[in-house]
Amino acid sequence: MYDVIIIGAGVVGGMVARELSRFNVSVLILEKENDVARGATGANSGIVHAGFDAATGSLKAHLNVLGCKMMKDVAAELGVKYVNNGSLVIAFGPEQDEHVKVLYARGIANGVEGLKILDSKELHELEPNVAPDATSALFAPSAGIICPYSLAIAAVGSAMDNGCSLRLRSEVTGIDRNDGVYRVTLADGSVEESGFVVNCAGLYSDKVAGFAGKRDFTVHPRSGEYMLLDRECGELVSRTVFRVPTKMGKGILVSPTAHGNLILGPTSTDIEDKEDKRTTQGGLALVAKGASSSVKSLPLRSVITSFTGLRAVGSTGDFIINESEGFVNCAGIESPGLSASPAIAIYVRNLLAGAGLVLEPKADYVPGRRVYKADEKLYSHIVCRCETISEGEIVSAIHTNPGATDIDGIKKRTRSGMGRCQGGFCQPFVAEILARELGKNLLDITKSGPGSSILVGKVKEV
Ligand SMILES: Cc1cc2nc3c(=O)[nH]c(=O)nc-3n(C[C@H](O)[C@H](O)[C@H](O)COP(=O)(O)OP(=O)(O)OC[C@H]3O[C@@H](n4cnc5c(N)ncnc54)[C@H](O)[C@@H]3O)c2cc1C
Repeated sequence: MYDVIIIGAGVVGGMVARELSRFNVSVLILEKENDVARGATGANSGIVHAGFDAATGSLKAHLNVLGCKMMKDVAAELGVKYVNNGSLVIAFGPEQDEHVKVLYARGIANGVEGLKILDSKELHELEPNVAPDATSALFAPSAGIICPYSLAIAAVGSAMDNGCSLRLRSEVTGIDRNDGVYRVTLADGSVEESGFVVNCAGLYSDKVAGFAGKRDFTVHPRSGEYMLLDRECGELVSRTVFRVPTKMGKGILVSPTAHGNLILGPTSTDIEDKEDKRTTQGGLALVAKGASSSVKSLPLRSVITSFTGLRAVGSTGDFIINESEGFVNCAGIESPGLSASPAIAIYVRNLLAGAGLVLEPKADYVPGRRVYKADEKLYSHIVCRCETISEGEIVSAIHTNPGATDIDGIKKRTRSGMGRCQGGFCQPFVAEILARELGKNLLDITKSGPGSSILVGKVKEV
């Protein structure tokens, strides 16, 4: 029996696990997918928002501002690249200029530091490639960019290094409670027990809460389509460029990524199917149009990939983070959930402590993450030519907690396959290295877990 079971290994579950791993409590993370960070955490803008968007007094606003302040140190401790590049909300015309003033006032009320309204001249001095007809902007110097899945992978890894257990391919299908003990049933029929449960199941957090008899909210998917441009375009703007937001979200942004690409998007479309991650011609056309109206001369021929992320939109309009009978919900964690995640973890820790979880600091807690060092000579063998990734880095990703077991896992940990050729060259070598290091048959290596086989049989038997 564990003290705490965390359901869902996105950035929220990962950060909660990392926070709890500082204390003498046993923690198990249950994740339905073949790897961590495969939900919203795996496909979003990667912006560490300053905190002027959310309504003053909301949990979103409070945890966003706090999380943004914490992010630099958290990322440094976990060895994840974070860039404090600042953000701009650009306005076109008098009506939007007024909206920028509203955002400024809200930001001040939320506690965001350093906000400044720029006129057109100041804006174009700062970002010469912003559309010439932009009339003003809100500049937020505290905003940043980070790779969202790297943060989640590192947080889970750090928690595991400090004793936390992770079970992948473990979908929670039922929860009941007897004599103060939660019995969590998994799809394979096995049962795990704990005194406390933290529901970080993203889009399915309403379903998981329902298993425990808690049905006071719902979560629906809102899709966001993106285009990612080659690294040669990464310096077209230095800051994240937003448009004035609407009630559907923050609009199409143009931003450098932490890895030096340029990201355009997302769209904002309410959908029914929580698994529908298709990109659409219409959606990508909207991205291209919106981005091109913010930044001039965008080289849209340099798109190397497109993808869709699904926001988990809660029915209350705010983050739904509450506790009853030792069961904590972290639901409706849409944007700015990534930015807020370090602060959410502390909030959840305090809820658990309030519910009776005894939190004694661990004497042997090691901050950060233990990175596996492969044989020195493997670092001179380049496997991914686009991103210059060596065999040593791939082997390290397989043996560093939480170890990669499929092609996408390697891609997200090392960037092998993320470059211009999108894995066309390196994928067979990566598959061979995975098979060798995991002691598996090459035919059993998948792209992203069961049902995504790459090789189905041998053409010639030897
Ligand atoms: C298009 C888009 C853009 C965004 N941009 C930003 C941004 O720029 N900045 C920002 O701060 N935030 C942004 N966000 C929000 C941010 O991505 C989320 O708030 C954050 O990733 C939520 O993390 P999570 O761990 O709650 O959810 P997820 O990452 O979705 O993780 C939930 C996990 O639970 C697992 N799970 C579900 N059901 C079960 C079950 N029954 N059993 C076991 N496991 C289960 C899932 O497989 C998944 O791994 C954006 C989101 C989207 C979609």
